[in-house]
Amino acid sequence: MIDADLLDNGTRHPNLALMKLSGYYKNKGHEVTLLTDYSSIIGYDKVFVSKVFSFTKFPKEVKRFNNVKCGGSGFYPEGNGPKLAKTIEHHMPDYSLYEEFIQAEIRKGVKPSRFKDYRDFSIGFMTRGCFRKCEFCINKKYDSVFRHASVNEFLDPERKYIYLWDDNVLGYAKWYEVFDELRATGKSFQFRQGLDIRVMTSDKAEVLAKSRYYGDYIFAFDDLAQKNEVIKGLRIWKKKTGKITKLYLLCAFKSTDLKDIEELFERIQILMRFQCLPYVMRYENYKNSKFARLYTHIARWCNQPHIFKKMSFREFCLAHMAYVESGHVPAALRTLNEFEEEYPEVAKRYVDLKYMHYKDSHEF
Ligand code: SF4
Repeated sequence: MIDADLLDNGTRHPNLALMKLSGYYKNKGHEVTLLTDYSSIIGYDKVFVSKVFSFTKFPKEVKRFNNVKCGGSGFYPEGNGPKLAKTIEHHMPDYSLYEEFIQAEIRKGVKPSRFKDYRDFSIGFMTRGCFRKCEFCINKKYDSVFRHASVNEFLDPERKYIYLWDDNVLGYAKWYEVFDELRATGKSFQFRQGLDIRVMTSDKAEVLAKSRYYGDYIFAFDDLAQKNEVIKGLRIWKKKTGKITKLYLLCAFKSTDLKDIEELFERIQILMRFQCLPYVMRYENYKNSKFARLYTHIARWCNQPHIFKKMSFREFCLAHMAYVESGHVPAALRTLNEFEEEYPEVAKRYVDLKYMHYKDSHEF
């Protein structure tokens, strides 16, 4: 097995398809190894290479070997790649696949906590599919959310937690069955894709808020055009819980111009009103924008909750005043100054907004 993402930049998540393939082949009596480079593939009967990210670098000549099979969304970003055979898709993942690699990394000095996702969680999908067909999402081939598997299919009783890759579990008609099953495991669980706040109902909010949820609740607010539905969902949600709630804010996808920056700030302001935290996700196009540095500094401000909760964007940019005194204007402040000079009206509306000022806003 070759996890191409792991060999390129490294990744926090184990590759689920490879773990299922490994489980399947081991069960058939084969020996399975996770390879940590491409040099020895010739010595194996079969080599499965998988990557999740399209930007992962991969030596193309590897595809020429007859014993190599490549798969995963990184090779097929349109979502048209070959599926795993049903027996493999529904096979218990081999959670030991990465263990030798992990131990070697720990011996090199990497902290064991880096491998939490590999060691502490059972991983899988209980539902699949989504009806929304967002332009930026790979997941466009289905028109609905449907049941994929029971949690028992991938549950390792020895593992403390569960994480799920479901695309839109709250959009599943029988969502409560999924939560009932998860509750019966007695384990904490987490959905790793942003949950769909737009389909929130009072019942869903109640069940989700009372469940043994691992970490923060994370929803998605990808586009300002969703504003009314998101606000409606947040009102329902915030009536049921005071727990930390984050929303992914995708930016630089529709455009990378002033409008996109304004829309990003506007979404941040909405989240402040609801005392929710933003998590800014920059689509890779941001790098080609005249606002590239501004996108980066906004993301740094938002994605560090301890800073976001205390400081406005201006305060964040001013935070390194020591540099100013020493004659060096910090990059963030320079970016803000340039933006404020060119677009004073937009800057006036947003750069002094502060999360803590909305504490008693009673928006919900
Ligand atoms: S709601 Fe989420 S899973 Fe569904 S299409 Fe949009 S991004 Fe993809």
